[in-house]
Amino acid sequence: MSSRPTWTEALMRGLKRSCPRCGKGKMFAGYLTPAESCASCGLAFEPLRADDAPAYFTVFLVGHVVIAGVLFTEQLGHPPMWVQSLWVPVAVVMMGVLLPLIKGGVMGAIYSSQASEHRHPAE
Ligand SMILES: [Zn+2]
Repeated sequence: MSSRPTWTEALMRGLKRSCPRCGKGKMFAGYLTPAESCASCGLAFEPLRADDAPAYFTVFLVGHVVIAGVLFTEQLGHPPMWVQSLWVPVAVVMMGVLLPLIKGGVMGAIYSSQASEHRHPAE
């Protein structure tokens, strides 16, 4: 077995939706559904439970971009409400794109932190 990747390596592999251990296998079987295990190295993805963290991080990022955009647009000259409402689809698209990437990153960070091994000692 190869050595454990650094936290940054595991995070970056996860952001690319690749296995945090080998970086070759795909981590997801669907949009947000993790694969059972890595097809390349066999790492089980089930213990890498991200729970609600990806949603929190995604809302945090998108909220900062969209709220800043709304306020900046308002400062430019009080545009009509329909112009400001264009930020809604921007937010929806950003969340749709970022959520699966951030979920992969969180799962990679969990793998790197060895949290899953502390919760599931060697069987
Ligand atoms: Zn792998």
